Formats: sequence, structure tokens, C-alpha cells
Amino acid sequence: MTIEKKEKADLIIVGAGILGASTAYYYKRDNPDREVLVVEKNELCSGNTSLAAALMSRARADRNAIPLSTETYEIIPELEKLTTDKIPVRYNGAIHIASDEVSEKNLSSILSGLTDYGIEWEYITEHQARSLVRWLECTNSSRIAFISGEAITDPYLLCMAFINASKKLGVKYLRNVEVIQLLKSENVVYGILTKDGKIEAPNTVLAAGAWSTKLAFEAGISLPMAAIRSQYWISEPLLNVFNPDDPVVIIPGAGFYARPQGNSLLFGVREQQSVYTSPDKLPDKIEDHMFSNDNGIKDLIDNFRKIIPFFPSFGDTGIKNYIAGFSCYTPDNLFIAGRINETEGLLTVTGCCGAGISAAGGLGRGVALLAAQKPNPFDFSNYSPDRFGQINPFSEEHMIKCGLSRSAKTSG
Ligand SMILES: Cc1cc2nc3c(=O)[nH]c(=O)nc-3n(C[C@H](O)[C@H](O)[C@H](O)COP(=O)(O)OP(=O)(O)OC[C@H]3O[C@@H](n4cnc5c(N)ncnc54)[C@H](O)[C@@H]3O)c2cc1C
Repeated sequence: MTIEKKEKADLIIVGAGILGASTAYYYKRDNPDREVLVVEKNELCSGNTSLAAALMSRARADRNAIPLSTETYEIIPELEKLTTDKIPVRYNGAIHIASDEVSEKNLSSILSGLTDYGIEWEYITEHQARSLVRWLECTNSSRIAFISGEAITDPYLLCMAFINASKKLGVKYLRNVEVIQLLKSENVVYGILTKDGKIEAPNTVLAAGAWSTKLAFEAGISLPMAAIRSQYWISEPLLNVFNPDDPVVIIPGAGFYARPQGNSLLFGVREQQSVYTSPDKLPDKIEDHMFSNDNGIKDLIDNFRKIIPFFPSFGDTGIKNYIAGFSCYTPDNLFIAGRINETEGLLTVTGCCGAGISAAGGLGRGVALLAAQKPNPFDFSNYSPDRFGQINPFSEEHMIKCGLSRSAKTSG
């Protein structure tokens, strides 16, 4: 599609990952007469969304994130109905293991948040945990909780369902068109510049994931986040040990999580020192980026001692695949979503803190409502893009802070 020299839309969304796509869907659904244009520099859903580990955890330290994820769970049937796409969602449940006093306190706070939102959970015994997950050893656990309704999905297919549903409603997508600049005059953003020309709109939503920081900064706006590596591995299959119906296992004390991937195990570790990439060093395409030559093996070795008590055969487990991408972490581990106060016409939805798949429904719906000047039922008061004031997102100090907030994460 060629863009004429100057186009107009009611809403422009920069980025067709899951957060841009969900915002587009809700905005068009609730404002059918308005023109929505999503501009994506690569293929649709080819960014970090396509790499995610697929956990749809609602059990989070941030209570305000729980209804955002619930919205994701609830929107899936609507998307399936509209598109006839089948979104694979497996309600395998999740086991959360506290292994020390600190993680027990964190777990108890997370569980009380779930209770407040009517999400069922129960404490289970070591024996019950082992009967649910064969490879798991829980003798070192002080508390084990099972949340039966937790799900895993396919992030690419979920994102494509938002895209296909929004296309059905009339949202236009421009693929392989890069937004070079946010158009700004005084304190008003009035559209975007691409290589093909200008596109103007009263509202623009910046949903370019890790790439949002540089675009915002060039328009004089500091987004308080950094591009931090998230990585996971997929084991060789092992019949009767790794089962497709096993629950997700989350062990914050060991910096470890795992979920079934067919008869393999997908697992990730939380490094003590997260790897960050400066906004001006991000690759154009995620597949072009090499985080480290060792496929993260050093991080597995560093965490080995902590994982073994829970997963005694860890060292004998063969590894089939390694996946790494960028998550956008903030210093306080909270999302970035809403209007940018000092700048008219600009909203953003990013700073996913490794939870953008799970929270996509609520984040997209909330931002879409704010863009339409309608009340937002979700509490975004802690997600303000301006909450840290003027920061330098290129500074080592800031990126290290964001990396530390990932290392200190207490939930999935
Ligand atoms: C390894 C890994 C595992 C993860 N596991 C989970 C998990 O289990 N559960 C969970 O909830 N979350 C998980 N996450 C986080 C999740 O992937 C992100 O929260 C989510 O994908 C963020 O979506 P997004 O739309 O912001 O970003 P992206 O999917 O990266 O989309 C941004 C889009 O913007 C486009 N873009 C960038 N610049 C421009 C420009 N100038 N012009 C036009 N387009 C542009 C990009 O090409 C890209 O397509 C994981 C992340 C990683 C990396």
C-alpha cells in the first residue's frame, strides 16, 4: 500500500506487537466510526511478542495488573468468534513455590491479591506438588501454592487474533513501513513521519516495544524503561517426565520458571545481572541480534546450584532450543501506560516488565479508552509514563536500575 503524501486517521498506533494490536482492537470495537491505522516497520507480530514464553500469569506482585490479565482471559472467546481463529489456551494451572522467608512473604501477598479478585488458589503439600509435576522436588519448600486456573497460550496466535479481529472491524495495517519520527509542534504530537510521507492524527499511541524509547526521546520524552534480555530454553523431549498437561512451575527463590512444551520442558532463569541494550543499539529486526555467544549457558551454570534442589535431573536434561529477546523493564517493575501528561496527542503502552502477553487485554483496552477520552476501568495511576520525571534512558545507571528490577522480580 502506498501512502499518499499526507494521510489522516483518528488514531495512529506505532507497532503491531500484541500491545499495539490489542489497543487497535478495543479502540475500533468501541469507536466503529473512527479510522485506526497501525504502522509496523517489519512484518506483523514479528517483534518480541512472537518470542514470548506464553505464560498468562495473573499471580503478580502488582495487584493492579491482575484485572488487566483477567481481561486477556475474557477477550479470547470474543476474538475467536470474530475471526474463527482458534487461540490455543491451556488451563494447566501454576505451582508457586516459596523456598525462604522472603519468598514466602511475597507469595502470601500475591495470593491475597488473587483472593481479592476472586481467583481461586490453594496451598498444597510437597506430595501433591510431586503428583502434579514428576520432575519436581519440593523438600526445600516452605510454602507451595497451586492456582488451578492459570493458563498458557501461543503469543503469536493470540497477537494475530487481535490483528485479524481488528482488521475485520476495519483497522488498517501498514506493514514494512517504519515510523521515522513523531510529528510534534510545541507540546502537541499530531502524527508520524514515515519514508512515504506524513500521517496526521489527533492521537498517536506509541506501542513500539523496546524501540519506543528512542522515538519518544527524539520527541523530547523520556520513557522510564530499558531493553533487557529475557531468555529461555526448551529441553529435549522426555516422555512420562515432561507432560503437556503439567502446571507451570514458578520458584522465585531459585530464579526459575518452567512450563510444558509438548513433552519437552520450557524453562527460564532470572539472572543476577540482567543484560541490557541501549536504545540506540537495538537491531532493526530481533532475529538479527546476538545477545551472547554462549546461548545463555553461563546464566544456567550460575543458577545451577539453586535449581538442582527443585529439579534434581536438571543437569541431565538435554537442551534443544534457546530463545532470547527484549522485555522492557522499568525501575519499579510497573508498566508504562497512558497519556504523556506534558504532551498532547500522545499515549504509550509499553514497559511490559515481561508480562505483556498476560496483560495485553487490559493494557490495550485501558489505553484505547484513554485515547477516546473515556473513563478507564483499570487503575493506571502507577503506570504513568512521566512518573520518574526527566531521566536519561541512555544512561548506564538507568539501564542497570531497570535490569535490577528484573532480577528482583517475585512473580512469573
Ligand atoms: C524471551 C521472552 C519471554 C517472554 N515471556 C513472556 C511470558 O511468558 N508472558 C508474558 O506475558 N510476557 C512475556 N514476555 C514479554 C512479552 O513478549 C512482551 O511483554 C510483549 O511481547 C510486548 O509486546 P509489544 O507489543 O510491546 O512489543 P513487540 O512485540 O516487540 O512489538 C513492538 C513492535 O513495534 C515495531 N516497531 C518498532 N519500532 C517501530 C517503528 N519505528 N515504526 C514502526 N514499527 C515499529 C516492532 O517491529 C515490533 O513489531 C517475554 C518476552 C521475551 C523476550
